[in-house]
Amino acid sequence: MDLEQLYLRLPTRLQNVVVSAQGYRIQRSRYGGAFQDQLAGYESRSSWDRERIIEYRDRRLQAFVRHAVETVPYYRDLFSRLNLTADDIRRLEDLEQLPVLTKQTVQQQVDRFRSEAYRGQSLQMHHTSGSTGAGLQFPVTLESQHEQWGVWWRYRRWHGLHRDEWCLYFGGRSVVPLSQRRPPYWRTNRPGRQLMFSAYHLSDQTIADYLAEMKRSGARWIHGYPSVVTFVAEQALRLGVKLPIRWITTGAESLLPHQKQIVRRAFGVSPIEHYGMAEGVANISECPHGGLHVDEDYAAVEFLPGTSGAARVIGTNFTNPAFPLLRYDVGDLATPSSDVCPCGRPGRLVACIDGRQEDCVVTRSGCRLGRLDHIFKDCVRVREAQIRQNQPGHVTIWIVTAEGYGRADEEALTREIVKRVGDDLTFEIEHVDSIPRTRSGKLRFVVSNLSAEAA
Ligand SMILES: [Zn+2]
Repeated sequence: MDLEQLYLRLPTRLQNVVVSAQGYRIQRSRYGGAFQDQLAGYESRSSWDRERIIEYRDRRLQAFVRHAVETVPYYRDLFSRLNLTADDIRRLEDLEQLPVLTKQTVQQQVDRFRSEAYRGQSLQMHHTSGSTGAGLQFPVTLESQHEQWGVWWRYRRWHGLHRDEWCLYFGGRSVVPLSQRRPPYWRTNRPGRQLMFSAYHLSDQTIADYLAEMKRSGARWIHGYPSVVTFVAEQALRLGVKLPIRWITTGAESLLPHQKQIVRRAFGVSPIEHYGMAEGVANISECPHGGLHVDEDYAAVEFLPGTSGAARVIGTNFTNPAFPLLRYDVGDLATPSSDVCPCGRPGRLVACIDGRQEDCVVTRSGCRLGRLDHIFKDCVRVREAQIRQNQPGHVTIWIVTAEGYGRADEEALTREIVKRVGDDLTFEIEHVDSIPRTRSGKLRFVVSNLSAEAA
């Protein structure tokens, strides 16, 4: 039995203790060490002008490329093959001399991307499934994690949100056993000041319990996946429940315009938009004027023209020297803008983030499940995946497997799916050679062919 299964068998009271203990551990690792200094550094750079921030970015990029070429086997070989030296990359535009790096290449040669400078050190591993559903595990330095949380708290603080604020959290973690049929559908993380709600129990039938608890808590901040927060907003409108919400932050999926509208109508505030990912190759934050600014001091971000109007987001993660990614294709699309934001912050603007527009799938009893890409987080031998739904309560999962995929992988995958979707959704796994892309070249993770009514 793994720890998660053990946790799910505990009584609710003890689950709260475990959630808080875990919350304490996370608080210490995220916000210890250099976090405060990082945050202070980021905040001071908010008021720099464009020229100064670009110079700062390019200086970091230069040093980072040098580090990559000197200590990372993949880049040592790449630069020698291209007849380049680290000195050839001095600014963002110089990166064009390097090929775009796909996630597939990183997956296939993952050890060759590790910096020799960190050999023998025990580093935390991060997992990502990203928009394409392909799993990747990579090492991150403690400093890079503090820096990531520094840049994430910068934009929150622009909006007056502080770390001591209690949060109503609607994320992807399964904190409540799927078999549980009665409230509470939430657990309390005291040190992290979070009420963690289960996204997997949300339905027309259970929503009143959720809303009552949200109201009772008095918390003013909602954080979660846009699809889940939108569902809660729709239901609050339907039931006429008013909550004293001041901030809504979202992550993991892009926030669609109609979702923004519903959330605004239900809670009276606009969700603060933000774009980032575990690999740390790009970060985009919304300012109080509604401008979406590239965080130039956090990563070197390029926008490559795509086939439709939107551009591909290509990024270089100069904050994590343990696993350098130069010109990494995130698999997301964004529309750059040449507008100037009245706020005066120095980062380039994007008009919108077009990627990760994942749909939900609908279970037999009408619950909506989002962010199912968690299923594939640890499936390193699944190259691509797509969840296809033609009728409520059933999905077909297409996978493209990598070399070495075997029965143990399929069993682990099946277990993971059952854990996430419970017995309210049947599924089949189909092996395919490739997955068709959308017109804009995007691999969609969920393709839902349900009628608007069924969805
Ligand atoms: Zn702005």
